[in-house]
Amino acid sequence: MNKEELWQAVLAQIQLDTSQANFSTWFKDTKIEAYKDGQIIVSTPNSFAKEWLEKKYGRNIFKIFYNLDKRIKEVKYIIGKSELKTIKKTKVAVPGEEQLEFEEFKVNKETNLNPRYTFENFIVGPFNELAHAAGWAVSEKPGMVYNPLFIYGGVGLGKTHLLQSIGNAVVKNFPHKKIKYIPTERFTTGVVSSIKNQDIEGFKTKHRVIDVLILDDVQFLAGKEKTQEEFFHIFNALYEKNKQIIISSDRPPKSIPALTERLRSRFEGGMIGDISYPDYETRIAILKTKIQEKEINISDEILDYIAINIQRNIRELEGALNRLITYQKINNQPPNLEIAKSLLKTIFLSPNKVANHKKIIQAVAEFYDLKEKELFSTSRKKEIVKPRQVAIFLLRDLLKNSYPSIARKFGGKDHTTAIHSCKKITQELKNDENLNNEIDLIKQRIFTA
Ligand code: ADP
Ligand code: MG
Repeated sequence: MNKEELWQAVLAQIQLDTSQANFSTWFKDTKIEAYKDGQIIVSTPNSFAKEWLEKKYGRNIFKIFYNLDKRIKEVKYIIGKSELKTIKKTKVAVPGEEQLEFEEFKVNKETNLNPRYTFENFIVGPFNELAHAAGWAVSEKPGMVYNPLFIYGGVGLGKTHLLQSIGNAVVKNFPHKKIKYIPTERFTTGVVSSIKNQDIEGFKTKHRVIDVLILDDVQFLAGKEKTQEEFFHIFNALYEKNKQIIISSDRPPKSIPALTERLRSRFEGGMIGDISYPDYETRIAILKTKIQEKEINISDEILDYIAINIQRNIRELEGALNRLITYQKINNQPPNLEIAKSLLKTIFLSPNKVANHKKIIQAVAEFYDLKEKELFSTSRKKEIVKPRQVAIFLLRDLLKNSYPSIARKFGGKDHTTAIHSCKKITQELKNDENLNNEIDLIKQRIFTA
């Protein structure tokens, strides 16, 4: 076996239990540089890939090598020549380049897809593995495996990125298929204006010829009966013809308020995949991929600082990086840890991150599609009692409000009602995963409002 063949043999085995996205992220442009005296030298395109291969895959890679050739005693990683190029490019970066980069990504008018979102730059970790695998399968066999595919997860965790990656992959795999990505809010606007123009039939016909329909943020269907009805018909028409439907939402179907039962059961009829929160290692991997994409240098200790402070939102991870990039562009040098800390302090400690009474009530009301007034009413309706208990629970949990003061806010109720609400929710949280998710999402809204 020559060097190329040997490396291909190793990669073939690694590929077996590595996701496509991770594989192409970490193994692209790698090769065996030298093989001498039992030592293999693997060349990697940059320091991130080098470190990642050493730390994450090193042991496995060595095992595979050893099984192929028992004379191999050691595998070393080096940075190949391309890293030099990268550094040079960064040095001559001029302001305004960001815009140029941005313009390269034009949203396709036909499909509404943004080519920026692909499987290649979608990092997979334990938190999104299932959703990614299902999405990948759908992109290979649209309409044949999971239909509908329902992806849910909190804000900034990659739902849109994943949905668009599926769409872009289908475009590549099946150039003749008609694909449409639609944010739910735009779909609703479409229904409303077609009603106004008395052309609901035209609206339906337009959507019935689609092969892959992607509807993003379907929680916005809550309470919009007419839109739900139209979507239901389009859904059925597509489904019967084995056309693929892909949906995202910030919560599972059963937690979407005011969703008609028939639509809910359609959503539950296919595959449901969730995206939770990325663990520390995945957050670091994401940060490293992003700085590699943007061709900038940020030290590991700074990345570590960001990954420790931002745990629940990938968009915020990017936001933190962007701030450091701006600094670097203005000052022509990367920030050190002290400077980075002061630059990021306002993100980590921004007033957004602090809960208050108003934000809690607003978030709970919005989440359950109620008016704030209704939360404070004396109604015994189930749709109101539970949100009210959740609001009381959060006031206690996040603000440490006293029971009597909570009771006063809720129309002078007896404070034992407040105690009861908190106990009830605390108890239910122990067994009800769904409620756990809901409260997580509400908290996320409170802290990003
Ligand atoms: P959501 O739709 O769930 O609110 P987005 O898909 O808009 O979240 O993701 C927010 C940002 O984080 C985007 O810029 C996206 O590219 C990035 N992002 C999210 N998940 C990943 C991932 N797994 N790998 C790389 N980037 C990601
Ligand atoms: Mg989104």
